[in-house]
Amino acid sequence: MILIGLTGGIGSGKSTVSALLAEHGAIVIDGDAITRDLQRPGEPLLKVLVERFGPEILNSSGELDRGALAAIVFTDKEALTDLNKIVHPLVGKEMERRMAEQRHTDNVVVLDIPLLAENPRKGLSGVIVVDIETDLAVQRLSAFRNMSAQDARARIANQASRETRLAIADQVIDNSGSLEELKFQVDRVWEWMLTRDHAANDAGAATDAL
Ligand code: ADP
Repeated sequence: MILIGLTGGIGSGKSTVSALLAEHGAIVIDGDAITRDLQRPGEPLLKVLVERFGPEILNSSGELDRGALAAIVFTDKEALTDLNKIVHPLVGKEMERRMAEQRHTDNVVVLDIPLLAENPRKGLSGVIVVDIETDLAVQRLSAFRNMSAQDARARIANQASRETRLAIADQVIDNSGSLEELKFQVDRVWEWMLTRDHAANDAGAATDAL
């Protein structure tokens, strides 16, 4: 497999790029989607979260109330550390299982990881960063994702800076233009992805080196 890391700050358009790459035939392994799957009612992960953070993180249907959980960890560093300690290993294991399935194929596999700059991975065939100005990300998150500008800014401030993210990029997608322009860039990057080397057997594992 050719293993490509895809990252971008919240609101950069990473999910949109990921969907376009899937249309080209990439196998997308999406860290956020896996996290959501593992947090469904009935999943062991949700039970552990309730044990640690209390039943107030559930809504009336017994589903995870992401806003309630976010509110707890946003103001409490220890809670955030615990959350990461609980969630990351399970999500990591599921991502590894999905990569192992692809290891000996010729597929292009995209590891879609919001915090790739913060949590680097071993031996990737390449890294793509989706980049936009912070103000534009805030504007799109408010307009299309129903987020207040204040919330959007706080979330962006909690992530790696644009510079830190750009420093790990082999290819940068500038998403400050139209969706049409974005699509054009994704087509170009897809051609580049196809030229990359196959990944080594241990590729994709988390590394401690920051
Ligand atoms: P991310 O996954 O990085 O948080 P999304 O892909 O969800 O970002 O994009 C944020 C919002 O902006 C979405 O509603 C998406 O449809 C919209 N969007 C993405 N790229 C563009 C673009 N080039 N022009 C207009 N809207 C866009």
